[in-house]
Amino acid sequence: MNPALEKLLVLQDRDKRLLDLKTALEYAPKERAELERKEDAAAKGAEDAKAAMRHAEAERKKLEIEVSSKQAQIQKYKTQLLEIKNNDQFHALQHEIAAAEQDIRRIEDRELEFMEQVENLQREAKAAEARQKETAARTALQKKDLEVREGAMRGEIEKLGEDRKALTEGIPEDALSRYERIFAHRHGQAVVGIVHGICSGCHLKLTTQTLHDARREDLLVACTNCGRLLFHQRGAT
Ligand SMILES: [Zn+2]
Repeated sequence: MNPALEKLLVLQDRDKRLLDLKTALEYAPKERAELERKEDAAAKGAEDAKAAMRHAEAERKKLEIEVSSKQAQIQKYKTQLLEIKNNDQFHALQHEIAAAEQDIRRIEDRELEFMEQVENLQREAKAAEARQKETAARTALQKKDLEVREGAMRGEIEKLGEDRKALTEGIPEDALSRYERIFAHRHGQAVVGIVHGICSGCHLKLTTQTLHDARREDLLVACTNCGRLLFHQRGAT
C-alpha cells in the first residue's frame, strides 16, 4: 500500500466532516427563510382576521345610522300629522310612518346578525393574534438556535481548515491534487477500500492486475470503473 494513502485517508475523514458542515451551513438561509415565512403567514392571519372584524363592524355601523335616519324621518312625519286637516293626506302619512317602522325592524334584524358576526370575528381575531404571538416567540427561539448552530459550524469549519494544512504535509503534490479532484467529483469519497476483490466505491469487481498493483507501495491505483483510489482493507481482501 502506498504510504500516501494512509495520510489521504486521515485527510479524507477531515474533508468529509468539512463537506458535511459546509452543506449544513448552506442550508441555514433556507431554514431561516422558512421560519420567516411562518412568521409572515401568522402575521397575515392576524391582520386578515382583524380586517374582517373591522369590515363587519363598519357594516353594522352603517345600519345603525340608517335606523337613526329612519327614526328622524318618522319624527318629522309625526309633527306633520298634527298640522294636516285633509283625511286622505292624514292616512297617506300614517301609511308612510308604518312603512318606515317596518323598515326599521327589518334593518335592526340585520344589525343583530352583524353584531353576532362581529362578536365571532372578534373571537377569531383574538385567537389569530394569540397564534401570531406564539409563532413569533417560537420562531425567535428557533432563529436564535439557528444562529448559534451557524456560529458553531463556522467555528468548526475554520478550525478544520487550519488543521488541514498540517494533515497534507508529507503527501506528494501530485497524489494530493489527484485526491482532491476525485474527492470533488465523487462527493467526499476519493479513497475507498477493496473488499473481497470489489471496489467499495462502485461495487464492481476489480481485475487481478488492479488488485496486485494496489499492494505496491510505489503506485497509486485507481478503480478502472469509478476512478477512486484503492487500498486493501485489512482483513477484507
Ligand atoms: Zn470503483
